[in-house]
Amino acid sequence: MLVAMVFEPALSRSDDPQDDDRVLLFAGNALIVTSAADVRLPTRTELAGLVPAETVHVGVLAGQAVETAAIDKETELPSGWAPETLRPLHGRLSDAEWAVAGRAFQLAEWDRTHRFCGVCGTPTERLDDERARACPTCTHRAYPRHSPAVIMRITRGDEVLLGRSSHFPPDMYSTLAGFVDVGESAEAAVRREVREEAGIEITEPQWFGSQSWAFPHSLMLGFTAEWASGDVVADLTELEDVQWFTREHLPVLPPPSSIARRLLDDWL
Ligand SMILES: [Zn+2]
Repeated sequence: MLVAMVFEPALSRSDDPQDDDRVLLFAGNALIVTSAADVRLPTRTELAGLVPAETVHVGVLAGQAVETAAIDKETELPSGWAPETLRPLHGRLSDAEWAVAGRAFQLAEWDRTHRFCGVCGTPTERLDDERARACPTCTHRAYPRHSPAVIMRITRGDEVLLGRSSHFPPDMYSTLAGFVDVGESAEAAVRREVREEAGIEITEPQWFGSQSWAFPHSLMLGFTAEWASGDVVADLTELEDVQWFTREHLPVLPPPSSIARRLLDDWL
């Protein structure tokens, strides 16, 4: 019988560390995994010697505690283990494992980068009842970094607006996207980004859905809207190209792991 890969997030655990805990160690932005073809999440025993004394509890996946930590990029790995960035692991880990790894990466990164109080410099302490590190001197609290970004499918009749960034794989185009400014609503960010990147005006953005995106710490807020006015003029400082595509003549689309692809699949 297949055991469903149910994940329950948790701030802390009541039991002691177990040999079969899943331990997700990040060297820079890469997860330490087996270098074998059948990638899976390592256990505490398998990575013994590399696991720091203090780890961040992520939750429980299919009955097993998940812990995470950042380790030094220069750490020598035992043979059979290698660092792998998360994005290419999609499809090689199960969807549940991949999602947990994305969550773990953001928590390990937050923990690594908030060891000292940003106000007074005192070493911070992790809280048990809240996902935060607190300063014992001035009570300042640091929470995991989380950046809202909008991503939008803009259509005009039977055409969709797609852009190409210079860091995309060859021939790939995607929906436009951008970070929400401080003080700005998500809908206003959609209109601003489309105006900046493509030079056109759109109808009122409609909510589509969201996705946590751990590259590096975004919450992607998906919207759809229709073209309202203007000719497309690509902002070449941000993108290589922006243009309308019909269903019959589409470029290479983003991978199925992304909300960009969900937005496009929904239209196709
Ligand atoms: Zn402080």
